Amino acid sequence: MPRPTRVCIDLQALHANVDRIKQHTPATLMAVIKADAYGHGALAIARSLQSAVEKFAVSSVDEAIELRDSGIQTPILVLEGVFATDEISLAVEHQLELVVHQPQQINWLIASPQAKHLPLWIKVDTGMHRLGFNLMQAQEVLAQLRDANVTTQLQLMSHFASADQPNSALTQTQIRRFDHMRQVLQAEFGAIPASMANSAALLALPNSHFEWVRPGLLLYGVSPFRQKQPIELLPVMTFESQVIAVREIEAGESVGYGHSWTANAKATIVTVAAGYGDGYPRNAKSGTPVLINGQRAKLVGRVSMDMISVDVTDLSNIEIGSHVELWGKSLDVNEVAYWADTIGYELVTRMPPRVPKVYQKGA
Ligand SMILES: *Cc1c(COP(=O)(O)O)cnc(C)c1O
Repeated sequence: MPRPTRVCIDLQALHANVDRIKQHTPATLMAVIKADAYGHGALAIARSLQSAVEKFAVSSVDEAIELRDSGIQTPILVLEGVFATDEISLAVEHQLELVVHQPQQINWLIASPQAKHLPLWIKVDTGMHRLGFNLMQAQEVLAQLRDANVTTQLQLMSHFASADQPNSALTQTQIRRFDHMRQVLQAEFGAIPASMANSAALLALPNSHFEWVRPGLLLYGVSPFRQKQPIELLPVMTFESQVIAVREIEAGESVGYGHSWTANAKATIVTVAAGYGDGYPRNAKSGTPVLINGQRAKLVGRVSMDMISVDVTDLSNIEIGSHVELWGKSLDVNEVAYWADTIGYELVTRMPPRVPKVYQKGA
């Protein structure tokens, strides 16, 4: 039998999440599948969703070409745009859509006659100060494109700094600025479809939906909020393994590297075949929940490369081969992330290739 550590990817849950997202907004859905679909496997996710969404979004031309080479024909938006002028011909060849966020990208486009029809998404900076133009620059860019006879469909987009804090002053300011920029640009250049909302904004900020919404995390059934979300989500990824050793230790004995955890009473400790080499966070603290045969138990001691130790003293019927869920269907990845001082986004996204993915089509 192979090592029992794997992630199960539930494609039915993925589709259920997409359906719920669609019920939640009249806007058109662009599915963000950058970073290997947040660790879920971009190609498998794209194959599964290609007729359920209008567009995919990835980070780079490279990520998009991988999908095209495997037969994905759905429109694909490249969120960081091109990194160099030679990527423009690749974008044309593979029929990609590009974000443009800095002046050099505009110069490259104008200098490439074959790029005249490439759909472009003009990114504006409404307060995150990471990527994008201010209003004056955006006006210049659109005028430059018009004067160069670039005859393409133009769209406007921006990104939130703190959409997970819907009441923050900056979030509301960003929406106001975006709406204003859009109105000014439309008055001068005609109708421009717009997009601003990521997962958190999709759930909490209906006035940010505009024509296109861009959820990533929600598709995978993970909430961007600590509190309960307004729509029911089904976790797509379940990270699981098995118990491979069981032992009793006496009070005063410690467990694992650096003997960082010590039993204060006689305890039953199991070893699970998953560690930081499998994507389990090394800085998860003693006390992090782990499900063993569906029962909650606590991680104890340091996370090793290939293994963790779990205190199962209060559980019954635990033996070698018992099923372990590290996160997923029955244990929210955000809860594990909290114990490791990070966010669910990071845990699912950094799943290493060592851990096999098993795709499940239905219950
Ligand atoms: C990653 C990303 C998204 C999706 O964000 P989620 O919080 O996962 O929904 C949307 N827009 C842009 C520009 C992104 O980079």
